[in-house]
Amino acid sequence: MIIPKEARLTAEQDTELEAITGEFDIHLEKIVGDHRTVYAMMGDERHELLITRLEGLDYIDRVDTIQHAYKLMAKDSELAHHKVRVNGSVIGEGFKVIAGQCTIDPKNPNYFYETAHAVREAGGDFLRGGVWKPRTSPHSYQGEAKALDILMEAKARTGLAVDTEVMDAEQVTLAVEAGVDILQVGARNALNYGLLKEIGRQIRNRPTCVLLKRSMHMGKIDEFILAAEYIAALGNPNIILCPRGTVPTMDGYRNHPDESIAVLLKERTWAPVMVDPSHSVGKASYVPFAALAAAAYGADGLVIETHVKPLAGIGDDPKQAVLPDVLARVIRDAKAIHELYRGHSQHLAAGA
Ligand code: PEP
Ligand code: MN
Repeated sequence: MIIPKEARLTAEQDTELEAITGEFDIHLEKIVGDHRTVYAMMGDERHELLITRLEGLDYIDRVDTIQHAYKLMAKDSELAHHKVRVNGSVIGEGFKVIAGQCTIDPKNPNYFYETAHAVREAGGDFLRGGVWKPRTSPHSYQGEAKALDILMEAKARTGLAVDTEVMDAEQVTLAVEAGVDILQVGARNALNYGLLKEIGRQIRNRPTCVLLKRSMHMGKIDEFILAAEYIAALGNPNIILCPRGTVPTMDGYRNHPDESIAVLLKERTWAPVMVDPSHSVGKASYVPFAALAAAAYGADGLVIETHVKPLAGIGDDPKQAVLPDVLARVIRDAKAIHELYRGHSQHLAAGA
């Protein structure tokens, strides 16, 4: 990692850095944070002569060769003050909610428009809607590009920034070009490093944000943070971590609720955390409780499947989407709990 003295380098300085690292077969990635730009070196960066030459440049502060598992996402990294913004709104300041249907039904676009308005009325900040769906069975509805037009129309009608899941390079391109604000990486793809790199490349130099779900199969917490590192290493660190439950160890829940890892994540990374209680518990009547628990564990927000008429929905909506009035209550109470969480963590920090 190359850390310059100034927040931004000039184009000539960039070229010089590339020329020097190129001599050592090292590829440079420029990572643009809010407060500073740092340069990740892809290759063996521990070459002594390389480090000496880089540190000899008068605009370079230092070269960090510590082999941290995650250099960019770590809480004490140079990006620690980076703010993840969606449409100008900072995730991690206040409590933010993404809500909307699991799946947009192209045959019933009006449900989605009604849901979008209801989400806004309920106090939701951003709108979710599945265009392409990762279904367990190949015989289930897989989504279609037509739904992307419905999503963007709902954005135009409500002014809400939108989130949708992408699973391959073509979907990433279509979503980014359409103006999707948040690309969702689903639980099934959180370990698909090819897709993570593809997203990283396509959102470089763009304000697009990524909502990275935790895989239901992920083990140690670092595996999750390293998945985020894959995206950040390609230049855009606008990443939100989203616990959504892991493989269940008991009957009753769809997945094993993992909202408690918000506390752990906050200790290790600066990235904001938004918990998805819908996929975690998988049942509309449990969702409010898991949502409030997430707020108590320090989440910066929630992702909640919501539908004006869940039983008329497709995908997960009939079983786990909450009604807009439930969403409104959850948002109100989660915000109050978030304030209590902040009070407790400030008290603990003051005593430390
Ligand atoms: C979804 O958000 O609808 C979804 C499929 O989520 P997950 O990837 O968490 O299963
Ligand atoms: Mn879903």
